[in-house]
Amino acid sequence: MKILVINAGSSSLKYQFMDSVTGDVYAKGLCERIGIDGRLTHKVPGRDNVTRDIAMPTHGEAIQAVLDIMVDAQYGVIKSVDEIEAVGHRVLHGGMAFTESCIIDDACIAAIEKCIPLGPLHNPANLMGIRACQKIMPNTKQVAVFDTAFHMTMPAKAYTYAIPYEYYEKDDVRRYGFHGTSHRFVSARAIDMLGNPEHSRIVCCHLGNGSSLSACVDGKCVDTTMGLGPLAGVPMGTRCGDIDATILEYLMGRYGYDIKEMLNILNKKSGVLGISGVSSDFRDLEKAAAEGNERAELALDKFRYEVCKSIGAYVAAMGGVDAIVFTAGVGENDAGLRAALCQQLGYLGITIDAEKNSQRGKELEISAADSKVKVFVIPTNEELMIAMDTAALVEGK
Ligand code: AMP
Repeated sequence: MKILVINAGSSSLKYQFMDSVTGDVYAKGLCERIGIDGRLTHKVPGRDNVTRDIAMPTHGEAIQAVLDIMVDAQYGVIKSVDEIEAVGHRVLHGGMAFTESCIIDDACIAAIEKCIPLGPLHNPANLMGIRACQKIMPNTKQVAVFDTAFHMTMPAKAYTYAIPYEYYEKDDVRRYGFHGTSHRFVSARAIDMLGNPEHSRIVCCHLGNGSSLSACVDGKCVDTTMGLGPLAGVPMGTRCGDIDATILEYLMGRYGYDIKEMLNILNKKSGVLGISGVSSDFRDLEKAAAEGNERAELALDKFRYEVCKSIGAYVAAMGGVDAIVFTAGVGENDAGLRAALCQQLGYLGITIDAEKNSQRGKELEISAADSKVKVFVIPTNEELMIAMDTAALVEGK
């Protein structure tokens, strides 16, 4: 099926038009500066990129611009918008209401709206994307795919916070986890690469600008590092990861920050950027560290240390491990980081093949033949997962 996958942010909208069976991407692109002025970048494999300034006061004009370029005589890939068989939307927070993807109808929209307090930045933007598509393509079926859904199989001991239980009962405060579509995609691929065993224990490391790890037993998530929101877990590009809540009270008291300012520091100015003062990009950090920048080295050291600790915690939680998967920008591209992590994990009987680890851009087993645990690099493909879910639901499978 030919599916348009939409990932709407507050002022941006990413799209990918693809085949849900082959994974072939016909066109993809980005609308930026929605609500400011508006710019569309459109890419068709094998052709030059197109960039156009187009007024985009709302997500409606952005979606219209995407559809227009898609049928454009010169730059388009289809003759009519009717060739778009369905639309799949990435939605950040599904709360406790969504354990899987769903066809978008009034009840689904109402449930996504109910989750806005849990995902205040993303869910309203996701809804704007959904509503714009509904308006412009009223006869095209649409599906919502949630970042949280894959993690809903976690047991209560993993998702419960040790705060008064009434906040869970009354206010839905619990661990939800994110990057679920990526964890679902790579864990399923890893099970396949393991030869589809009856029992499997996998640690997935989604390491990008945002990072999270998950523990998956027999293909189901049993724990993950992110929490109620995507600020928790290992340190990230600009997000702090797990910290002692006392820090908030202490710094807010000393500097007079209100909670918004404090959270802005923890979301945008922390992580490896905060420690290094150099960059949130791991390539910049590695360059700076190689040139002797001690804080850049400390930021990398902290990141490696916390990822290693989380892997160890999940091995303990699952009572062993069959495979460790690296994915996302850092996990897929940073061979040096993978080598350092695997060396630290040598106590698990992990050894890697340096030559295989140096390869890029494809699914790889990088563990050596004698390694007791398989180590895989699996490029994530959240868009394909969204397209597959969308096709399955629309076809009624
Ligand atoms: P993502 O959020 O998955 O798109 O990942 C983006 C991050 O991947 C960037 O911030 C970079 O830090 C990182 N990245 C991309 N390529 C490399 C590379 N060759 N080596 C190290 N980090 C990389």
